[in-house]
Amino acid sequence: MKSCRIRAIHDIFVGTGGKGDCTMKISQSSLSPPAIIVLALIMVGGCAEMRPASQPIIVKRAQMHMGTLATVTAVASNKQAGDRAVQAAFDEIKRLELLLSTWRSDSELSQVNAKAGRQSVRVSRETLDVVVRSLEMARLTQGGFNIALGPAIEAWSMTERQQIPDEGELERLKPLVDWTSIQIDKQVQMIYLPHRGMRIDVGGIGKGYAADRAVEVMKRAGAKGGVVALSGDIKAFGVLPDGTGFPVGIRHPREEGTLIGTIDLQDEAISTAGDYERFFERDGVRYHHILDPHTLQPARGCQSVTVIAKEGTLADGLDTGIFVLGPEEGMALVERLPDVEAIIVDQDGRMAVSSGLRDRLHRP
Ligand code: ADP
Ligand code: MG
Repeated sequence: MKSCRIRAIHDIFVGTGGKGDCTMKISQSSLSPPAIIVLALIMVGGCAEMRPASQPIIVKRAQMHMGTLATVTAVASNKQAGDRAVQAAFDEIKRLELLLSTWRSDSELSQVNAKAGRQSVRVSRETLDVVVRSLEMARLTQGGFNIALGPAIEAWSMTERQQIPDEGELERLKPLVDWTSIQIDKQVQMIYLPHRGMRIDVGGIGKGYAADRAVEVMKRAGAKGGVVALSGDIKAFGVLPDGTGFPVGIRHPREEGTLIGTIDLQDEAISTAGDYERFFERDGVRYHHILDPHTLQPARGCQSVTVIAKEGTLADGLDTGIFVLGPEEGMALVERLPDVEAIIVDQDGRMAVSSGLRDRLHRP
């Protein structure tokens, strides 16, 4: 068993550096190594022969979705059931991408954005759900998490242009990024953006939401356990065949290939927002993809925020929101919330671990 794990770790480090299909994405592509590394992806081909007949099998596959490498692992009683669950997860992720991507003009969210200031748009339950949950995250983080940032995110176009928008342009956008003005009618599933030029962007929460939904369909397809990893947004359920949780490693924000800690996940999600995922440097200053909604400049308090919660939606929304809140306020929020833990690396590289995680986090 041990040799399989080591082989799997090697596979993950080697296997995630490749380029992907950048045409299908919720937000921009993140092609850097993932912020969280799933450490126990034991492949059927490598290890099946060591398995007693009664032991569950593990099936793992990776595909490009939502602009990143999506890896799905299923623990199932046989290969067919495992394959079915993995396929169901990818189908669900693909389906959600078609609803939520702001890179596709035919997605539901793009329709909502295109009709801003003119008309409300009827959307699916899932799109409504993501937007409703996003507004909850905005309230929790006092507006640190803000899905109305679309126009500012576009102005920065982080990976494409590597340009710093001028102050005047950002100032003009400020009235358009008011998330409190988003109008939702839950009864009829309608969303309305009241000003022309407003744009919803769910890049900060969509992968966590997709991981939650993918896990649900895997369970329905008969998987006993598994992991859905969309780059740094991961949701695990059940246990490995040996009864242990799924170990994941959290990347050091400045030293590629180094972990700041590992942790076993069981029916939990983990998500990291980092300033190293998409960035460029100009005159010694790092400009990255997480914006402070008050300044519309990259948020400055943290290098990385990792959140562990029961749900991927919560973990993903909070990592981005806490990144904006900063290390002190962010950790105070985590300590107030039940079943939420975090590891925050501040701008000077100091690491803070929430109280419920100190006994669980294995440091290197
Ligand atoms: P990823 O998992 O893709 O790295 P994160 O959870 O780190 O995503 O969120 C970053 C993305 O969220 C950005 O690329 C952008 O689309 C969006 N975003 C940037 N700043 C904010 C913010 N303050 N609130 C909500 N979303 C944001
Ligand atoms: Mg996030």
